Amino acid sequence: MILIDGKGTAASIRSELKARTAAFEQKTGKKVGLAVVMIGSDPASAIYVRNKIKGCEEAGIASFARFLPAETTQEEAEAAVEALAKDDCVHGILVQLPLPAHLDAQKILGKIPVEKDVDGFSATNLGKLAMKEEGTIACTPLGVMELLRRYHVQTCGKRAVVVGRSNIVGRPMALLLLNADATVTVCHSKTQNLKEECLKADILVAAIGKAKFITADMVKEGAVVIDVGTNRDENGKLCGDVDFEHVKDKVSMITPVPGGVGPMTIAMLLSNTVAAAERTLR
Ligand code: NDP
Repeated sequence: MILIDGKGTAASIRSELKARTAAFEQKTGKKVGLAVVMIGSDPASAIYVRNKIKGCEEAGIASFARFLPAETTQEEAEAAVEALAKDDCVHGILVQLPLPAHLDAQKILGKIPVEKDVDGFSATNLGKLAMKEEGTIACTPLGVMELLRRYHVQTCGKRAVVVGRSNIVGRPMALLLLNADATVTVCHSKTQNLKEECLKADILVAAIGKAKFITADMVKEGAVVIDVGTNRDENGKLCGDVDFEHVKDKVSMITPVPGGVGPMTIAMLLSNTVAAAERTLR
């Protein structure tokens, strides 16, 4: 069994990006810039934002953090994003989700111009992916594809099963695998015989949000298993959607949690930001 090292791969990507950010700076006299907007003080979000800012530093990207209080109004939030949209030093804008309940997240995200949508969450970017056109791809599924590529996992003609169909993970994941010529099945909460569907997978991607939900009897011998889930187990310990301890002996490759897909998500955010900056030079 090969343990897929997302943490190490993400570190390699950050150092590869350094050369590109330095070249951009030399050409333009400006750093590549990423703005992170956080509203309120959700503790998990605060950790994610801190990690994103740290990743920026390591890749030579300038970060612009906008921490707004939980009482921020819809107008104020939209105005903050609009100001960043106009700022030439900002090549990518990220609004950390979830937002406080009184805010309309879609409207706020809608203020991010498509060329600065480095999360790839906009309908335009998801549509481009569906049409197999060039655009910005959501970071988590893009990170999964990068792991598959770097670990030489063949997708062409393989059976891929994605469990989860959210707009930010499952759906773009399925499209990416389809675009990479896999035969793709998408499963969700209404799927019947989930175990039988999963057992067909050469590549199984779990993006459900339920601790240790994918058990060994659901996984084909020799499959490649990618665990996107970020959950807490009964002891409060970070764990994935896959029952790693029991599944690991059956598979050919597997991602751990933590240290698998999570670090790749941030690396792809940085990569999308550098690509957005480079596109301004075309
Ligand atoms: P969502 O809650 O938006 O989507 C979960 C999906 O799982 C839904 O499509 C849902 O189906 C499906 N699902 C729920 N229960 C079942 C079930 N019993 N059987 C089959 N399918 C089921 O979550 P996200 O896509 O945003 O995130 C998924 C997981 O990935 C979470 O643990 C999240 O924390 C993690 N995550 C990790 C990231 C990382 O960087 N590592 C980044 C983003 C997310 P239905 O559509 O029918 O409701």
